Amino acid sequence: MIKRAIAIILDGLRRDFVQPAITPTLTGLLDTGTWFDAHRSAIPSVTRVCASTFATGNMPARHRLEGNTVALLENGRFAVHDVGVPGFFEHKRAVTGKTLSTPTLAEITRDAGGVQVFSNVSPGAAYAHDPDGFGHVYHRAGCFGPGRVPLRDENISSILPDADGERRLTEAFVRTLSRPCRSAVAVLWLSEPDFSQHYVPLGSPAHIKAVQAADANVALAIEAVQRLRDEGEDVLLFVGSDHGHQTVGAVIDVEREVAGAGFGDALEAGTLVIVPNGTAVLFYATENFHPRVADLVGFLRIQPWAGELYAERDLRHVGHTNIDGLIVFLSLASVDDEVNEFGVPGKSFAAKPPAGKAEHLGFGQHGGLGKYEQSPFLIASGSAFRPGTMCRENTDLADIAPSILHHLGLPIGTMTGRPLQHLVENDPSERK
Ligand SMILES: [Zn+2]
Repeated sequence: MIKRAIAIILDGLRRDFVQPAITPTLTGLLDTGTWFDAHRSAIPSVTRVCASTFATGNMPARHRLEGNTVALLENGRFAVHDVGVPGFFEHKRAVTGKTLSTPTLAEITRDAGGVQVFSNVSPGAAYAHDPDGFGHVYHRAGCFGPGRVPLRDENISSILPDADGERRLTEAFVRTLSRPCRSAVAVLWLSEPDFSQHYVPLGSPAHIKAVQAADANVALAIEAVQRLRDEGEDVLLFVGSDHGHQTVGAVIDVEREVAGAGFGDALEAGTLVIVPNGTAVLFYATENFHPRVADLVGFLRIQPWAGELYAERDLRHVGHTNIDGLIVFLSLASVDDEVNEFGVPGKSFAAKPPAGKAEHLGFGQHGGLGKYEQSPFLIASGSAFRPGTMCRENTDLADIAPSILHHLGLPIGTMTGRPLQHLVENDPSERK
């Protein structure tokens, strides 16, 4: 029997918004598979890190993409880079010798049916699935086949992350699934509801409308999956999100605060670099700054806007490493039960982004360890996942790649994640 794995990601959809009245397709899908009730995002909970974690089955300490915005040590100084731009991974390879440091699903499956990714988020997040060009990536900024050979696709190049674009990308994905030469792994990564959530209040009519439209796109894709199953294929289907959102209650200029605390000289000299990632902040430093890390941490820990903080060797507790110059991961403070004007819980401080970027005050944001940004949803259907079951074990985005490889009968190697099939085997899953 032909085995295939299909993953559909609705960027940014919080688990608590999966409700019959808003997402009838998703709640209907629960009857056919397993709901993961304690599923978590990557850290930071930002899309480009999530895509890298999804593609490699590893956390940033291994795949080495630690933010949506990162700093790379170049000629003795840190240079800050937006990972979302099309050329980021080529630049990272030129500077560090690597794009991602562990193999992607596209590389691992290249001789076993390969990967096709349809993404409507940023170019960097799309190319994180396959930065070295083993499979096929379809994105408006450029479509690529094996060897990173550009593919001309006029249809895809005009697709925007709006309602019309989301539907057109879903249709292109569905057409691919109906072709005889379809790949072993197919991924559809839609930009909604994340895109809307950044610009309207969570729970507002405009937000609910975006979630409903995303749910309707999933319905279209699920019909295509059903046709494959009707043809006798053994399809493992994942439908989930990469992270949730918190409401931004206040915006903090972390760099200004740190400069005011006596670290202005280090920021000026470039020995300390502060890189905002939504509701999280990454701090990088050169060797010269290391004697002052304890003072910096001491200052940060007592700030009302600071939440969980991990420094130096403790970075490993959140899946990071300090070998590329990262010294501190800071999640900004969040209040789980504080609601916005639509009664949606979860407020956070957000870090003031670089000049020219939107602050999203009163709207959705993510990046940190707040309860709701760390509550994406995940449903698995097919394979070992029994209909109408729920798994309460802790799972996260890194578990999807090994689950896909397990389904395809391919070796998993060393990954942070583990096959969810093993987890549900041992877990007395309950009906939801
Ligand atoms: Zn995302």
